[in-house]
Amino acid sequence: MKKSLFYLTFLVLILILSSYSIITNEPVVDETPIVVKEEASEQEAEEKGSTEEEKPAPAGSTATLAAIGDILIHDRVYDLAEVGNGVYDFMPMLAPVQPYIGEADITVANQETMIGGVDLGLSSYPSFNSPYEVGDALQESGVDLVTLANNHTLDRGENVIQSALSYWDTLGIPYTGSFESAEDQQTIRTIEKNGIVFSFLAYTYGTNGIPVPADKPYLVNLIDWPKMEQEIIKAKQQSDVVVVSLHFGQEYERMPNEMQKELAHQAANTGADIVIGHHPHVLQPLEWVEREDGTRAFIAYSLGNFLSGQKWDYKDIGGIMQIKVEKTEANGEETIELKEPAFVPTFVEQGYVVYPLKDVEGKEAVYEEIKTHMSQWMPELQFSLE
Ligand SMILES: [Zn+2]
Repeated sequence: MKKSLFYLTFLVLILILSSYSIITNEPVVDETPIVVKEEASEQEAEEKGSTEEEKPAPAGSTATLAAIGDILIHDRVYDLAEVGNGVYDFMPMLAPVQPYIGEADITVANQETMIGGVDLGLSSYPSFNSPYEVGDALQESGVDLVTLANNHTLDRGENVIQSALSYWDTLGIPYTGSFESAEDQQTIRTIEKNGIVFSFLAYTYGTNGIPVPADKPYLVNLIDWPKMEQEIIKAKQQSDVVVVSLHFGQEYERMPNEMQKELAHQAANTGADIVIGHHPHVLQPLEWVEREDGTRAFIAYSLGNFLSGQKWDYKDIGGIMQIKVEKTEANGEETIELKEPAFVPTFVEQGYVVYPLKDVEGKEAVYEEIKTHMSQWMPELQFSLE
């Protein structure tokens, strides 16, 4: 009797002690005061107007990444862009937003329609082929890389894809999500800016019922988690920042569905730092994902249409998303931090000219609504690129 009472007391004591240690070891409790102190001391230094008392900042560098949504070229768009017999100029359509697109160190666009060129015969919905000159205009606007994994990638078959890919090669613009060969698919695209290496991957939910040729799976990357997981891990080994483009979700839905949330979070928790979604043709909100290691990833569920022939019901509204990446080295360890998220809403006017939404007369209420919509999970979101 006495013996069992002793064991019981002992057991209770151990339980109390272990729960105490769990509580005190909780990283949140451990870390939060440090962050608060740092912020306070920075503020103090700023108020004093002196930085002399501050500790030297750890060696670091920054680079900004911007992204725009779907470039979806209907016949009514390329008809208006035609300047001569079979010659096109899309630059006037992008001119009002060009200063914004070119602002970031790296800008990514989702080229939803393949630019197979005039010689293969241009076509519109539901089976698209677009002029080469779309690529010229994107390059002139400051686009550095295009994502090509879309439900329209296979619309016109391999000839159009190969023609488009070789034109992007001619322009010197890297692409991902659609590839020339199996070997090409194995090469992860990276861009280095200010000592920060970004890698880019892209996947689509499907190809409008057109089967991917069994012997040529490299023509378009499908969403296939085991493959994606492997590639995200590989990309992480080759870069500081992994950017994953996902063509997914429900068309014309203004909020992400469960599948989008689950997949985007899965990608973020596997190592994707920035997830850029598209396909719904309307804007869906931005979101942070807090990872277990204390870092955070950024998700744009849908960037909407940037340049397309679609009108009304938010389909003519898109935007330029921007995020700053800071790489810091301290005590031999590198950390990547995402900060200062920004979003400039855009609007496709009559004549398929893209304008910053804030400059469009009569759209003041829509502009306010879009700002609220995009920042509902990210209150600190800025609406200028300063
Ligand atoms: Zn799509």
